[in-house]
Amino acid sequence: EELYRINGWGDPYFSINAAGHVTVSPRGDRGGSLSLYELVDALKQRNLNLPLLLRFPDILEDRIERLNACFAKAIARYNYPGYYRGVYPVKCNQHRHLLEDLVRFGQPHQFGLEAGSKPELLIALASLNTPNALLICNGYKDREYIETAILARRLGKIPIIVIEQLEEVQLVIEASRKLGVEPIVGVRAKLSTKGVGRWGGSTGDRAKFGLTVPEILQAVDELREAELLSSLQLLHFHIGSQISAIGAIKDAIREASQIYVELAKLGANMNYLDVGGGLGVDYDGSKTNFYASKNYNMQNYANDIVAEVKEACTERNLPVPTLVSESGRAIASHQAVLVFDVLSCSDVPTGAEEPASEGEHLIIRNLWETCQSISVENYQEAFHDATQFKDEAISLFNFGYVSLTQRAKAERLYWACCEKILAIARQQEYVPDDLEDLEKIMASIYYVNLSVFQSAPDSWAIDQLFPIMPIHRLNEEPTCRATLADLTCDSDGKIDQFIDLRGEIKSVLELHPFKQGEPYYLAIFLSGAYQEIMGSLHNLFGDTNAVHIKMTPTGYQIEHVVKGDTMTEVLSYVQYDAEDLIESVRKQSEQALQEKRITLQESRRLMQNYEQSLRRYTYLSST
Ligand code: PLP
Repeated sequence: EELYRINGWGDPYFSINAAGHVTVSPRGDRGGSLSLYELVDALKQRNLNLPLLLRFPDILEDRIERLNACFAKAIARYNYPGYYRGVYPVKCNQHRHLLEDLVRFGQPHQFGLEAGSKPELLIALASLNTPNALLICNGYKDREYIETAILARRLGKIPIIVIEQLEEVQLVIEASRKLGVEPIVGVRAKLSTKGVGRWGGSTGDRAKFGLTVPEILQAVDELREAELLSSLQLLHFHIGSQISAIGAIKDAIREASQIYVELAKLGANMNYLDVGGGLGVDYDGSKTNFYASKNYNMQNYANDIVAEVKEACTERNLPVPTLVSESGRAIASHQAVLVFDVLSCSDVPTGAEEPASEGEHLIIRNLWETCQSISVENYQEAFHDATQFKDEAISLFNFGYVSLTQRAKAERLYWACCEKILAIARQQEYVPDDLEDLEKIMASIYYVNLSVFQSAPDSWAIDQLFPIMPIHRLNEEPTCRATLADLTCDSDGKIDQFIDLRGEIKSVLELHPFKQGEPYYLAIFLSGAYQEIMGSLHNLFGDTNAVHIKMTPTGYQIEHVVKGDTMTEVLSYVQYDAEDLIESVRKQSEQALQEKRITLQESRRLMQNYEQSLRRYTYLSST
């Protein structure tokens, strides 16, 4: 069943089973599925508490297989006389277990890695042991970075140093002279083609990275002068992550193909065209060019790249390049699911349609009349009247003209109006803008065991939409509408953008009534790219527990458990030593004992709790 548009964003990995649980099929169409609810239960029995990040290496493998299969198909379809050699941009998710899996899964396809910084180069150099795989070296570079990359050739790697700033050309020339090793060099072009969406600014003349066409020509001159023009083999561009419209990708390839061809004509030893990242993920499942979606699939993407490049090279009678892409989001997003629990819920005040008598204050009578008159014809106007009367009632109260009891009645009448108006508005096809807020005003707040800043930072920072839904009780009607509030003491620590039950983007999410004492689990899906590493320690909520679940012929196996941070660990990031903290509280407690402000029993309890907390998870324990 298509609740929360799960088929749109989840296919082929996530769906709903007959028991009303979300299931995961990590091997895609190749069989085997698990109930996420049962999985979480089994993990809880092993003392792995929520929030829990579930990683499915089989999904990672499936994503790599798909990407390579799409390029293989496109190459066959267009008779492309060349190869595809993808690389994974380490920045998307650097966690060791994931990266090790990724390199292994990529081996049959000679899949490589892309480093965007010095520390990422260190990881990539140590991890990539696949023969013939590329090691693309991007980002800002200093002498040490460049020397390390050049020397990697001596280890049998294929490091390609991509010039992002003109100054790097001389650094590369000097390093190669000094070491006596010829580098493999690429240039990153600032295309004039505009990207689209959130990261559209990654291109154009004023983009942060890359060389303009005059700068590329200057780089060519400098390399030629140093007799290193033959080392220039690659052209790279990146027009931004999550490109939602295929048109932008096509335009960029066309422009880049022409630059490629021209560079070859200028005498560079052109061999590779690296189209960067940008391959989008359909977060809302709508298959449109909405920023959280994309109006193309992986096969369309591969086809367009292969076809455009072939055409440009054939026209000029040039051999085609090996095609490189740097897709991270499309590879790493699906494999991670963050499951978290609801801790409590606060409902909006309930209204009461209490009649107002003749003698009551005019404002109460107005509210009562408004409430009674609400109909399909006037509900929008009635909302404005009710809001205005309620605001007036509060002003009158502040000036002493309305009693506390009367104010309470005014508020109850106001909420009764809102309930009636909302019931009508929900039945209309078109909801006027000013009533959109009403849905939010009337929503419950579900308090969840999670930090948005740690686990879904893009949701806070750039309003990125992620699919969020309950992972069980899906046979039951979700009768509550809610927004989510996280554990941090920050009013930004909330989520109020969702794919609702019917698949529309709404500010409230339909959820099941929360029953205190009964577990209620929600999950954020497609969160495996960027979120983990960009998460921050706001309020000192640390890394969550992460578990790698691998499918086996008979079920599944818990491959790795990466325990989340303890309080001692997060406190050490801000230079507190657990022993010192304990000592400080112990001293204060001794002093209080001496002065008889605390009993021995209380002091023992305090110290016990304090010391235990330091060893524990930073999140709340709901059991
Ligand atoms: N390559 C470069 C140079 C990037 O800056 C990025 C990220 O923005 C990527 C690749 C990954 O792109 P994507 O997130 O679209 O997979």
